[in-house]
Amino acid sequence: LNRRLAEFGTTIFAEMSALALSTGSINLGQGFPDTDGPEEIREAAVRALREGKGNQYPPGPGIPELRTAVADHQRERYGLSWDPDREVLVTAGATEAIAAALLALLEPGDEVIALEPYYDSYAACIAMAGGTRVPVTLRPDGGAYRLDLDELRAAVTGRTRLLLLNTPHNPTGTVLGREELTAIAELACERDLLVVTDEVYEHLVFDGEHLPLAAFPGMRERTVTIGSAGKTFSFTGWKVGWVTGPPELVTAVRSAKQYLTYVSAGPFQYAVAEALRLPRSYFDGLRDDLRAKRDLLGDGLAKAGFTVYRPAGTYFITTDIRPLGFDDGFAFCRALPERCGVVAIPNAVFYDHREEGAPFVRFAFCKRTEVLAEAAERLGCLR
Ligand code: PMP
Ligand code: GLN
Repeated sequence: LNRRLAEFGTTIFAEMSALALSTGSINLGQGFPDTDGPEEIREAAVRALREGKGNQYPPGPGIPELRTAVADHQRERYGLSWDPDREVLVTAGATEAIAAALLALLEPGDEVIALEPYYDSYAACIAMAGGTRVPVTLRPDGGAYRLDLDELRAAVTGRTRLLLLNTPHNPTGTVLGREELTAIAELACERDLLVVTDEVYEHLVFDGEHLPLAAFPGMRERTVTIGSAGKTFSFTGWKVGWVTGPPELVTAVRSAKQYLTYVSAGPFQYAVAEALRLPRSYFDGLRDDLRAKRDLLGDGLAKAGFTVYRPAGTYFITTDIRPLGFDDGFAFCRALPERCGVVAIPNAVFYDHREEGAPFVRFAFCKRTEVLAEAAERLGCLR
């Protein structure tokens, strides 16, 4: 393994999902639903396969049907208007979108500001692109994690090229509000920064609303926005994501994508194009279902003795394990399957400042109600 990647071993998700299997535990670690997305959308994928749609290389930027569906969806939801031919790119999940965006937009030595704790592929992709990561830490404050805008401003230097944002935020569940996004937009314009914003949980917001950064003044021309069908339609195995942004930036991301995967799986693109046209009730139903699950697991975790940071969005709950008498999330998560039959993720993996994340542990609640109820009951063993 080269020096760029040496610090990144096996992802925590692989390690913890393997532990869930070997111990027969309930897996609230890796974030994937235990119920597949809509039947009609699965049927659409089967139909595409049978009809020979997408079984050979689809077009490099993605099939026109999907690019148009992405553009229409963003116009209807957010009033954003993108040209499907020049301003939308289909990727192999959001993971490839993140990698391709960073590889395309960074010069070696450029600094990238990312909100810590951050999704684990950010650090690895910044490293692969030869960039330097500059974490700005979200901190617990009054029951939620907050961004300190002064800290963000102070982190910008003459070498800062790009802000890498994530809202709704994995793993804290924080949803950036209008005031914060306005300040971020002003900062980006003032310091002439690009922004890559990972909005894969855009439809999983329980309190407040998702505001896309690209809709803020001055941001359309400097923002690359990332979305994913994995989260919105509960098909994490399909690996269909997309990027929207101005033509120069999307073309740049496409240049990198060409040499990573060239294209993404064809038949699934047809199905996701249909999924994006599902009625509003689908998206509202998914959100309401997950809100109830958040409350069920959140209440169970609180009852078991954790301090719970109830998320405004995403399908993750961050907890503090100190009230239970523990302070090392790694040790706690490695012992939890044997002790209680539940798997969780130590938030420290999402930090450069590991000590900041040490006592926090993340639970995923995108699981069936009875599974969450059983997990909550099992966690009672910690008291
Ligand atoms: N970004 C964030 C914040 C995520 O949580 C995930 C999923 N774990 C991804 C990107 C990757 O999405 P995909 O599965 O579409 O590659
Ligand atoms: N995004 C999911 C999570 O945060 C899964 C990511 C993965 O397995 N790479 O749990």
